[in-house]
Amino acid sequence: MPLDLPTLFVVSICVTALLGLFLVMLWLQDRSVRALGWWALAYLIGGFSVALWLLQPAVIGPWSQDLASAMLFLCCGMIWNGARMFHGRAMLGLAMAGGAIIWLAVTRNPDVAGSEQVRIVLSSIIIAIYVSLTAIELKRERRAERSTHRHAVLLAALHGVVFLSPIMVQYAFPRAAQGFGEGVFALFALLTLLYVVGTAFIVVVMAKEQSLTLHRTAALTDALTGLFNRRGFFEHAQKLLDSRLRKDKPVSVLMFDLDHFKSINDRFGHDTGDDALRLFASTITTTMRSEDILGRLGGEEFVAILPAGLDDAIGIAQRVRLAFELAGRNIAGRQINATVSVGATLSPGRDCTIPQLLSRADRALYRAKSGGRNCVVADSDIGEPQLPHVEGPPLHCNESASRHAVESGIAPASA
Ligand code: GH3
Ligand code: MG
Ligand code: MG
Repeated sequence: MPLDLPTLFVVSICVTALLGLFLVMLWLQDRSVRALGWWALAYLIGGFSVALWLLQPAVIGPWSQDLASAMLFLCCGMIWNGARMFHGRAMLGLAMAGGAIIWLAVTRNPDVAGSEQVRIVLSSIIIAIYVSLTAIELKRERRAERSTHRHAVLLAALHGVVFLSPIMVQYAFPRAAQGFGEGVFALFALLTLLYVVGTAFIVVVMAKEQSLTLHRTAALTDALTGLFNRRGFFEHAQKLLDSRLRKDKPVSVLMFDLDHFKSINDRFGHDTGDDALRLFASTITTTMRSEDILGRLGGEEFVAILPAGLDDAIGIAQRVRLAFELAGRNIAGRQINATVSVGATLSPGRDCTIPQLLSRADRALYRAKSGGRNCVVADSDIGEPQLPHVEGPPLHCNESASRHAVESGIAPASA
């Protein structure tokens, strides 16, 4: 079936421009996926480059086809860099425009400009490099849905092979290649068209997935500290608890509450109070292990669930308490002497739940508060009914520190 080159070009222009506009509209609706903006622009430039190709050189000058090719290479570079941005990597501006620059520089040479074969080989190499780079970028992505991921990589890889085929034909069947002429370009245009439509679908699915992930993450994150909020903590803690209980392994829960936080707000202002909350969040993030799940339950109350036994958890809680005691001496250039009290508990058996564990840790925390603050108390009265206040000396308390808090005016004397 003969492929009519001008018709293919007109169809390519219309389809690419429409897809570009469609992507622009999607991006305007939800700008959280910035890469979508780049991809939309790349499609519009791609469509414009094909339009430029179609114009007779006599109309706007002999350089129009070289410029059109350069714009197409820029479009490929933008799609590749859009994929980089999509995965949170830096844009590489020079490499993005590199193909276009090389093309414009090389085609200034009259020997190259006159040789159709050299032009086909060079343009195939440039496009194949960008397509391969895009495929590598997509392959690195771990967060995407597996099916989208596979399709995107397959499409990019296939297209790389297709674009390299003119080179293979040139070298393997040089005689046949001489007779190709327009046919090769028509095939090129058709493949590009199919590729553009295919990638647009994949781009839309990927952008939607990422936008969903971003919104979901925001809904589960505490804006002030960047830790999980109550909902995010419960969701992730439940998963950890289930997987540990399945293996018959213990989990521990630590409940943290900053001491005399109201007094910090009253004496130094709400902004300094917020600084103290952020400092505590960064202290637990750096002091605890990556497998521990941390959250802010609200106000100045934080929580952690650890895949560990109680002794380990108490050791970690002491580390956090001491680290915060040190870091909290001066906050935002002011002497604050902020401290934290911690309640610790261990999963009692196979059928325990997160609310149960929190309530046990809360009971231990209550004892830490009533026992002098700036200390860690473990709830070891596992089988007992939950009393509002459990008598007995708190474990791991730091009496000198709480005395210090009273003396320095942070704590009320009755505490
Ligand atoms: P204790 O040692 O017994 O825990 O006393 P406390 O003062 O820390 O506890 P209390 O519950 O009396 O006070 C908590 C304060 O935390 C009251 C509230 O205004 C403040 N707070 C809650 N959320 C925020 C916040 O997001 N930022 C700031 N700066 N303060 C907050
Ligand atoms: Mg509190
Ligand atoms: Mg408090």
